[in-house]
Amino acid sequence: MFRQMESAGLQDLHFWQDPYSGLQAIIAIHDTFRGPAIGGCRFINYPDTAAAINDAIRLAKGMSYKAALAGLPHGGGKSVIIKPSGLHNRDLLMQSFGRFIESLGGRYITAMDSGTQISDMDNIALSTRYVTCTQDMGDPSPSTARGVFAGIRASLQFRFGSSELDNIHIALQGLGHVGWALAKLLHTAGARLSVTDIDPEKTERAKAELGAVVVSPNEIYDVDADIFCPCGLGAIISPDTISRLQCSIVAGSANNQLADDAMGEALYQRGILYAPDYLINSGGLIFVALQHAQHPEQAIQQKVSTIYDALLELYKHAEADQQSTSHIADIRAEAILSQASLEPHQVA
Ligand code: NAD
Repeated sequence: MFRQMESAGLQDLHFWQDPYSGLQAIIAIHDTFRGPAIGGCRFINYPDTAAAINDAIRLAKGMSYKAALAGLPHGGGKSVIIKPSGLHNRDLLMQSFGRFIESLGGRYITAMDSGTQISDMDNIALSTRYVTCTQDMGDPSPSTARGVFAGIRASLQFRFGSSELDNIHIALQGLGHVGWALAKLLHTAGARLSVTDIDPEKTERAKAELGAVVVSPNEIYDVDADIFCPCGLGAIISPDTISRLQCSIVAGSANNQLADDAMGEALYQRGILYAPDYLINSGGLIFVALQHAQHPEQAIQQKVSTIYDALLELYKHAEADQQSTSHIADIRAEAILSQASLEPHQVA
């Protein structure tokens, strides 16, 4: 276990088992040198405990990189609640999970993630104040979408010398919370959309309301578009899909888009501009972190809009160094984390 933690640079890993509610949960804290770890809670099925631990560790590290590049006073953390296979009381599970978070005394702040919803955050909030995305705070997805929209404009500016979306063709994968909000922003700005989702209701709605062309989940990689915009699954940039992409830019909200680190270099070699996922999709994290710190909405949205400049600047750096954008993003995040580790932060 220590070897696994060491290779991910993880600080601590916590387990909680509650016989009364049936809760089995894991909290992975990657880094607290820049401030309390922050990151979502997943409530999904796992084939075994090892898979749940791997997920928590991998995602916690990504959150540290995201918080570092967004300039937030937080480290990265992630939690998973292993979904019980039998009957369970969801409210009690969440309340118990709140006690788990509270036991860490503020080292970890949770948020919504796959399988969790606002009502879960409300139940968690009965036992701890280290929680975001409650009814009072709301869903981070619209802020994530606004950040990706800003990042797409920065990508267009860098690649084509204009950030205008008029008549730009975007192949959008996944019309969920973020994808749908983003599709509406892109449509309003004049973009042409080709979309896919495994849920036909969502694609039909995009066709009816946004004039989108619907393609099958497998065909989305072959669409001759300016931008491929992944807003569904992770690990969709692989040797197979890279060879099929017809676009100049990959920019979307999905976490962990690259199947492995080498894919960033592979995109670069193919001349495709890649917006590093943890930078372009940081709007949601900015929203939850600043809301938790009680910043006003206007200040939050102003900070989300800085993704435009941050991405543009990173592209210029990568171009000057003749390196892939994913590599530059990684070394920058690692430098920020390493610098912070030399100046230990006292968590309140
Ligand atoms: P979501 O679950 O609401 O939406 C995902 C959508 O993808 C769903 O409509 C689903 O049907 C679709 N989908 C699943 N498999 C598909 C496939 N094979 N082909 C096409 N579509 C498929 O999730 P979300 O909150 O919109 O998040 C989308 C992505 O953005 C995820 O990777 C998430 O981790 C990431 N992200 C989300 C936020 C946020 O604020 N919600 C923040 C940062 C990153």
